[in-house]
Amino acid sequence: MVSPTDPRLLGLVDRLSLEQKVQLLTGRDFWTSWPIEDIGLRRMLFSDGPSGVRGETWDERSPSLNLPSGTALSAAWDTSIARRYGHASAVEARRKGVDVVLGPTINLHRSPLGGRHFEGFSEDPLLTADLAAAYVTGVQENGVGATPKHYVANDFETERFTADVVVSDRALRELYLAAFEKSVVEARAWLVMSAYNSINGTTASENDLLETPLNSEWGFDGVVISDWTGVRSVDSAKASQDMAMPGPVGAWGDALVTAVQSGEVPEAAIDRKVLRILTLAARVGALDGFDGVEPVFIEDGVAFAREAESAGAVLVANDGILPVEASSVRRVAVIGDNADRARTQGGGSATVVPESVVSPIEGIREAFPDAEVTWSVGAVVQEGVAEIPLSELTNPVTGDAGVHVSFLDTHGAEIFTEERRATSFVYIGGDAPVTSLGEFVATTTWTPSTTGRVRLGFASIGEATFVVDGDELFTATVEAEGDELGAALLAPPSESHALDVEAGRPVDLTVRFRKAKASGESFDGAMMFTFGLDADDSDPQALIDSAAAEAAEADLVVMVVGTNSKVESEGFDRASLALPGRQDDLARAVLAANPRTVAVVNAGSPVELPWRDDAAAVLLTWFGGQEYGHALADLLTGVTEPGGRLPTTWPAATDDVPVIDVTPRNGVVRYDEGIHIGYRAWLRAGAAPAWQFGHGLGYTTWQQSDLVVSDTVSEGGAVTVAVDVANTGARAGKHVVQVYASRAVSVVDRPALWLVGFAPVSLEVGTSSTVEVTVPARAFADWRDGAWAHEPGEFTLHVGTSVAELPLTATTKFVS
Ligand code: BGC
Repeated sequence: MVSPTDPRLLGLVDRLSLEQKVQLLTGRDFWTSWPIEDIGLRRMLFSDGPSGVRGETWDERSPSLNLPSGTALSAAWDTSIARRYGHASAVEARRKGVDVVLGPTINLHRSPLGGRHFEGFSEDPLLTADLAAAYVTGVQENGVGATPKHYVANDFETERFTADVVVSDRALRELYLAAFEKSVVEARAWLVMSAYNSINGTTASENDLLETPLNSEWGFDGVVISDWTGVRSVDSAKASQDMAMPGPVGAWGDALVTAVQSGEVPEAAIDRKVLRILTLAARVGALDGFDGVEPVFIEDGVAFAREAESAGAVLVANDGILPVEASSVRRVAVIGDNADRARTQGGGSATVVPESVVSPIEGIREAFPDAEVTWSVGAVVQEGVAEIPLSELTNPVTGDAGVHVSFLDTHGAEIFTEERRATSFVYIGGDAPVTSLGEFVATTTWTPSTTGRVRLGFASIGEATFVVDGDELFTATVEAEGDELGAALLAPPSESHALDVEAGRPVDLTVRFRKAKASGESFDGAMMFTFGLDADDSDPQALIDSAAAEAAEADLVVMVVGTNSKVESEGFDRASLALPGRQDDLARAVLAANPRTVAVVNAGSPVELPWRDDAAAVLLTWFGGQEYGHALADLLTGVTEPGGRLPTTWPAATDDVPVIDVTPRNGVVRYDEGIHIGYRAWLRAGAAPAWQFGHGLGYTTWQQSDLVVSDTVSEGGAVTVAVDVANTGARAGKHVVQVYASRAVSVVDRPALWLVGFAPVSLEVGTSSTVEVTVPARAFADWRDGAWAHEPGEFTLHVGTSVAELPLTATTKFVS
């Protein structure tokens, strides 16, 4: 693999002027770097997200594979799934001309309120680190750069651009940095993204942590790319921050050239950054004379999306109702807003636009061909307007399905048009001339499929006018809630107005929109606008009653509860873990009407399920990707087995969560809990969650026995943990061996238990296998006085199926 010490690259740096070098350090636009023809460098394209690859544009004309969320990936506890997830992402990247995937997101699940919890992997640093490294390996062995992000301690969203995280060195090393370490040391990540926040008083893009441990100790030789707008000063050029995105305007540019000329920033610092960017270009094949690698590990993305969702779904409770024999069911009542409008991915920059999505109701209808399958919404989860289905839209210009869009300049002259197949528009990068001065106009002929009163409206920040059959229906202005730019852009509030429509009677619709002036320069050219329909929530009790009545008539109820983009997304944190809307009331009514109810949870992170003990089964499915409905049907009918184990403790109630606070005080969030987050904190608090870290059921039974561990271990060595695993049930299945450590007496404060290794194993009925887990000595070390310390003496190793189910124990001795 080419490295920054390659003399050919050093020679190229020498051929560049200071101005050329500095220009290369800032993006050319939102998603690309500058090409330099003189040295055979083409542009590089960077793209979100971690769960699919969006490509250069953010719209339905260039669809992307929508993989299950990071939480679904981590719940599989399987590095081979994570690696294939990387393969699938790289295949998508290459298909879309993308050189670098801006993922994985591996900030820890410190608090379940964290808005990007769905994107992250786990509350445990080891599980996160192992899966992240496998993801990075998978992407890069297919010739595309991976970008573990956001370095570091970016575990919440409130005041995300400015918040300062005060955290001890020990917690940083043992938790937050540890999550990144293997991606760099073992998987040799080609990039790392620095975070928006500060760590102990210094913003990430200027922080010494970019040098130590990342470069100096871990041997990172890639590019530290900023989070978008995260480079804010010339000073950050003195730090090991290599590249500022987006561009072309930024804090570096001419100011940095001047700073170099005046001697304030050494030119050697610039050269080092340039060299790394050229190395990246050589690695991805963007530099003449260096061959990139075309994908060699090809995944069928759609099939993989379905498989990965099954592998990560966690069955937390089952009285035996699952799996269901499809042919034995006469009538299935499918209930829930998310059964129809499922969330297959979280919101924010990770969003991709899939070609199509299989909803739970569609998947279940296919899997139960002989049953009558009904659907009732039960409780409205949707907040704000939802898109109008393409099948109801005719583009008045082309006559095809869709919408005609034009952009007008300040004089009302048309300067850009496009034909679209959706009513949601995101312009971030791309050619559309988005400014707050001009106007965006969408026209379509809408043929509603139902008769009655609807609420037609829009979501965006700015002023919109709706004209229906030539008459103005309404004009309204929506203002941003809060001052978080990203949230205002990607999850804006909405406004709607009543309109009476008739099924089959076409309505000519013109929507004119003028976006509000953005406060941040870099976002002025960005716009998000959706028009569509608000959900009808005028009589919520009637919705509950009718769902309960459907449930009572069925011999199987599948109730899908979940979140929406207003509670779980990038740019803000959650205020509570409660399900939005009347879903808890709905669940109680449905469970009272029919106990043969499987509760399916469509949320990217933990939610309260106060009625959970009354459900026959509870299946956590995260944000399930575009094949969600198929995967769910596979799971329900036993075509597949739920392969997931909880990567994060699932609380019963928000108030029970020991580490929850995500709100800066005077701009500061203190990680005072130190190394005790997640299950470590629950154990210390002596509190009981709804379901424990590591917990998850399959469809067969298991026995673990004969634990053997190495007697001793010393620095640089490893403990081998061997355990016999037998599939004692009636079908093939997957089992996850989990190994935790504890220390009875220690000179330092330690967690009651901490995960030190894991291994998934799949076995046929009646077979057994000896599973070996290698636990490196580092697993027993603690960070003390600026170095890893190895306390000699006895450690206990606990083996089992969750942090609370550890029947086998053995000891090993650390000897120096
Ligand atoms: C997010 C990053 C993302 C970037 C580019 C930022 O707001 O925090 O995760 O990669 O935008 O979309």
